Amino acid sequence: MNKDISQAVIRRMPRYYRYLGELLDEGVERISSNELSLKMNVTASQIRQDLNNFGGFGQQGYGYNVQYLYEEIGRILGLEQRHNIIIIGVGNLGQALANYSSFEKMGFVITGLFDINPDLEGRIVGRIPVRMLRELEPFAATHKVDIAALTMPKYTADKIANRLVNLGIRAIWNFAHIDLELMDKDVVVENVHLSDSLMQLSYNMMRSQKERKKEFAKKNETSSKQ
Ligand code: ATP
Repeated sequence: MNKDISQAVIRRMPRYYRYLGELLDEGVERISSNELSLKMNVTASQIRQDLNNFGGFGQQGYGYNVQYLYEEIGRILGLEQRHNIIIIGVGNLGQALANYSSFEKMGFVITGLFDINPDLEGRIVGRIPVRMLRELEPFAATHKVDIAALTMPKYTADKIANRLVNLGIRAIWNFAHIDLELMDKDVVVENVHLSDSLMQLSYNMMRSQKERKKEFAKKNETSSKQ
């Protein structure tokens, strides 16, 4: 059923999942696409179209069963499985991820931390000891690793990524400041650039400031004419 679903639709799924989770917490059992659209600020037709990609889930005149839809989207996103994550680079960002307990509630469990800094060896971060990078191979041989998060500097990212791929790790969550592209097309990469998002915010701040200045100038102009 999930064939040929566009990445644009997949990108919207986590947001549906999050909103539906909130509705469940509020005790809401069913919701129409119109109500959901108001809540999420997307059109009802977009919601219907998106969810139709997966077989709909809705019933005419009844709306969506929140629990069912939540579980189905979770299943589509693969959240019913546990995912073991290792973190490479236990600096500020790596430690923040390791300490962030909410991932575990979604089944993303951090099971290994690796760094090259000997000062960090054995330090416990989020219940896990930091191991030296040279222990990566033996660790991967004895532990199932589903995802590797890269939070070390960009200049080593390519090399490490290839090392991980050779160990059979098929998913990379890349925070290093580089757009990782791997030759092995069976390996999936999610590049997360927090600074890109911050730069977009900066641009939008500037734009809204300009708009406000323009509005202000316009108001002044009209009041001085009166
Ligand atoms: P952050 O960027 O997370 O704030 P930082 O500024 O302390 O951390 P970075 O230089 O970005 O330092 O490195 C992040 C972490 O990655 C450090 O703990 C560093 O020791 C580690 N690191 C550097 N190179 C590698 C590597 N090749 N493999 C694993 N870890 C590495």
